[in-house]
Amino acid sequence: MEATDYNATVIGKMLVTPDLMILRVHTDEPRENFKAGQYTVVGLYGAEPRSANSAPETDPTPPGKLVLRPYSIASALSRVQEFEFYISQVKSGQLTPRLFQLELGGRLHVGKRIIGVFTLADTPPEADIVMVATGTGLAPYICFLRSHVNDRPNSKMAVIHGAAKPWDLGYFSELTFLASTFPNFYYLPTLTHADHTWAGHRLWIEDFLVSGELERATGIQVNPDKTHFFLCGNPTMVEKVTQILSASDYQRHSRQRPGSLHVEEFKSR
Ligand SMILES: Cc1cc2nc3c(=O)[nH]c(=O)nc-3n(C[C@H](O)[C@H](O)[C@H](O)COP(=O)(O)OP(=O)(O)OC[C@H]3O[C@@H](n4cnc5c(N)ncnc54)[C@H](O)[C@@H]3O)c2cc1C
Repeated sequence: MEATDYNATVIGKMLVTPDLMILRVHTDEPRENFKAGQYTVVGLYGAEPRSANSAPETDPTPPGKLVLRPYSIASALSRVQEFEFYISQVKSGQLTPRLFQLELGGRLHVGKRIIGVFTLADTPPEADIVMVATGTGLAPYICFLRSHVNDRPNSKMAVIHGAAKPWDLGYFSELTFLASTFPNFYYLPTLTHADHTWAGHRLWIEDFLVSGELERATGIQVNPDKTHFFLCGNPTMVEKVTQILSASDYQRHSRQRPGSLHVEEFKSR
């Protein structure tokens, strides 16, 4: 018997690596229109099986508990009944090992509300945009680009994606294609643990900014009057890059106080 909270079906599952997945779901009902960069919750019951490639939970989840976690939407705004998520498996986590065990046709819960302030809404159309991500922090930028890359011809846009090894670069083909198609879009993957076969950048994201490599590669200036920065993913990266940008007079954006630094941390509860 199906759990009554389940309201979506898996229609696509692609493992980028054994611990990194692109999950596509079809919701039974369409959602309201949303803004690129927003997120919703995804959930499964504790009774669901965990992936073979996971570790035991410290505290077993009760079978009747619906475990809910927020995930940024990677699919374009035009899709309000099919959503794509880019998810990393936390091996001892409560939800992700269960999500990784889902197969095509599997059922799950997807939130009815799509929320969040990590959007382009307060970014002037002519401002340049730098989207900085570690790991699955790339997800909201995939939505930004799929939805808006065409809308901002006078704005330079760059994605700096930090990962360990080449195979951790989900969406590499799509981003490489966009960079070769749109002269105002730059894709800057940077790897910390690549072997000699990697010919690209090897800088930590912080060093990308401090060394001037961003400006050399794209012409984009680290200047809050001209360039908005978006940071998404690992809290340590967010903290370090925030420190660097603060030294260049960047203010963190909030509803109460507009700024050119937009932050989304993938913090757990
Ligand atoms: C607004 C928002 C959007 C998010 N979007 C995404 C997204 O698009 N893709 C995505 O993969 N995640 C995303 N997350 C993180 C996600 O919500 C979960 O926290 C994550 O998937 C872990 O869930 P879990 O239940 O498996 O682990 P939990 O049971 O919650 O975590 C167990 C422990 O693992 C550690 N942990 C938690 N998360 C991580 C992590 N990412 N890496 C390493 N250790 C961790 C913590 O110490 C935690 O206490 C987002 C978080 C927020 C707040």
